[in-house]
Amino acid sequence: MPEKLSVLDLDLKGKKVFCRVDFNVPLNEAGAITDDTRILGALPTIRHIIDKGAQLILASHLGRPKGKHNPKYSLAPVAPHLSGLLNRNVAMAEDCIGPQVTSLVNQMENGDIILLENLRFHAGEEKNDPDFCRQLADLADVYVNDAFGTAHRAHASTEGVARLLSPAAAGLLMEKEIRYLSQALANPSHPFVAILGGAKVSDKIAVIENLLGKVDSLLIGGGMAYTFLKAQGHHVGRSLVEEDRLELASELLRQAEEKQVKMLLPTDHVIASEFKEDAQHKTCSNQDFPADWMGLDIGPETSKTFSTVLQKAKTVIWNGPMGVFEFEAFSKGTFAVAKALAESEALSIIGGGDSVAAVNKAGLNDKMTHISTGGGASLEFLEGKILPGIAALTDKS
Ligand code: AMP
Repeated sequence: MPEKLSVLDLDLKGKKVFCRVDFNVPLNEAGAITDDTRILGALPTIRHIIDKGAQLILASHLGRPKGKHNPKYSLAPVAPHLSGLLNRNVAMAEDCIGPQVTSLVNQMENGDIILLENLRFHAGEEKNDPDFCRQLADLADVYVNDAFGTAHRAHASTEGVARLLSPAAAGLLMEKEIRYLSQALANPSHPFVAILGGAKVSDKIAVIENLLGKVDSLLIGGGMAYTFLKAQGHHVGRSLVEEDRLELASELLRQAEEKQVKMLLPTDHVIASEFKEDAQHKTCSNQDFPADWMGLDIGPETSKTFSTVLQKAKTVIWNGPMGVFEFEAFSKGTFAVAKALAESEALSIIGGGDSVAAVNKAGLNDKMTHISTGGGASLEFLEGKILPGIAALTDKS
């Protein structure tokens, strides 16, 4: 993929900038923001655009209002919060298109900030409707995308508008995501290790296939390990197994061998009598897996093996927990991996979703090189796909 233009490359003075951000923040019953991580993530780009003397139009989605105005999903609580963080006024628009928005935008002066109402109040957003794209694009001169988490969706604000406005550049957060993920895939320091976990093999097939051509070792944990173990002929009791993927699992194991990738599966497990937080549990090896039990975490021997591989790694990508880390009794494997990664000198990239939650829960987030802000987007990036929200940005050359 060609290198994309950065917001740092743009001459922004006096320009109206349409900036797609990810303000999809959790709200409580009273409509208060319970976690502002995503807002904080966009601050460097916002500050840069304002400092350069531009007029900033911020756009985001929040939740899934399914194309209809719904006050429950209003971005209104974000405007005063952002205003407090920036110590300057942030005007809230009552919609994202229409005469009131146009009039507000026409009155803007350099340094002003407007937050548009939830883009997904219009069905045109997710449909990437040309007329909706045109109405959004007409508000501004320049496009900036800082919402990596939605870059795998070809929506109006992530793709259509970027094709109508020129230049279209990556924001600072987006740029960082692209830089780390591309470096890992295109130019990694070796040994390059990927750790994959989570519930299902089926969600990660394309990632495994893409990584098998690049990594030196692939460590597999979580529920998805049981389909591989069963494919190898092990007994895995009542563990999560995707019966329709057994053949594919065998094929992936065969490909790993052919490409000389060390594919490590768990050799021991924390098993439970049922899928419950306070279920009876114990450890067992691959050889003595009881028929009535299920594997809910990797065992201590596996944690040790995985940690040893991570200690020697130079580049690591991690996606998916090693067990049901939401339950304390089955969280040790995931935390052991997080700790080993934190202690390793490797460039460490945590790819969205549950692995990020685990790293945060372990208080190790500042020990990782890069924590991706997009679960789905980082997974698609690791599959080797070119994300539509990135493809639509202007090439640097
Ligand atoms: P994913 O979204 O595919 O990354 O899956 C994350 C989910 O996988 C988490 O909610 C975990 O609780 C779950 N998970 C991890 N290991 C297991 C396991 N051994 N059995 C069942 N679920 C698991």
